[in-house]
Amino acid sequence: MEAEGITFITSSVIDTKNRAEKLKQTYDAVALCCGSKKPRALPGISDQGIPGVCYAVDFLTAVTKRLIAADGQTAPSDAASDFSVKGKNVVIVGGGDTGNDCIGTVLRLGCKSVTALEMMPEPPEVRAKDNPWPEWPKIKKTDYGHAEAISVFGKDPRQFQRTVKSVNRDKNGALQSVVTVGVCMQKGKLKEIKGSEKTIPCELLLIAAGFIGTDPKTARAFGVELSSRGTVKSGETLYHTTVPGVFSAGDMRRGQSLVVWAIAEGRACAKEMDLYMMGYTV
Ligand SMILES: Cc1cc2nc3c(=O)[nH]c(=O)nc-3n(C[C@H](O)[C@H](O)[C@H](O)COP(=O)(O)OP(=O)(O)OC[C@H]3O[C@@H](n4cnc5c(N)ncnc54)[C@H](O)[C@@H]3O)c2cc1C
Repeated sequence: MEAEGITFITSSVIDTKNRAEKLKQTYDAVALCCGSKKPRALPGISDQGIPGVCYAVDFLTAVTKRLIAADGQTAPSDAASDFSVKGKNVVIVGGGDTGNDCIGTVLRLGCKSVTALEMMPEPPEVRAKDNPWPEWPKIKKTDYGHAEAISVFGKDPRQFQRTVKSVNRDKNGALQSVVTVGVCMQKGKLKEIKGSEKTIPCELLLIAAGFIGTDPKTARAFGVELSSRGTVKSGETLYHTTVPGVFSAGDMRRGQSLVVWAIAEGRACAKEMDLYMMGYTV
């Protein structure tokens, strides 16, 4: 890509009005492709800075950085040494793809146990009558992380319709155990089931409860509007934002998605930018 004339400026975060303005003045068009990694919090838990409580993507990023450093490709970063897993009881909140990646990762790092909590009911093993082909199959998916946990511990790590209600800490403030509670949907709202609390040992709690859009700092710096889902709003065309000359693509525009979509959006966005600058596109 560099040979094609693309300049990469690493370690440069464009999230202030001054920097955004400078970029807009220097270039005819700007594309914002900053992802959608703002995590959904567990109220009263993930915002307390408790040692041993961590957002899933921060954890996975630190583990990957540690692996790269161990390979001798970079100097080890401080953040990467913060998360030890060996011998720990791990609880993961969130039963999606990110939660599954966390299960696989903590197993390979030698955790003592792993429990994955999912607030939704357990899906059926086969399609329900009201979910025929060619609709998306709403069935229980056993991914690689679940399969590895079953192989190592002899049981599925998932507990459905359950979440973490509170945490207990030792005298040094570190995480010691979590109180889990059964939940169910009542009139569209998640309700706790009285008397269903259980306390389980836990020295590492990973929060993989989904994403609530892009980091608003960058969008604010460029003055682009966000939707109620925390994604960038389209302006005159799909990839044009509400600010002339500023475009957006990938997760930042469509919400947390897949690599294939990010690639397709990047290409379609480039085409719109070409049209905007040249008046035509081939
Ligand atoms: C744990 C996890 C597992 C996943 N597994 C899969 C998978 O197996 N298959 C799959 O297809 N998809 C997977 N995805 C989804 C996939 O990672 C995303 O859909 C894809 O990376 C989106 O690409 P993007 O370029 O839009 O954003 P990103 O890949 O998120 O890239 C955004 C980049 O912008 C940088 N950035 C943000 N703000 C600024 C700023 N202000 N200034 C400068 N730089 C900034 C960020 O540091 C980041 O490097 C996974 C996602 C997660 C979280």
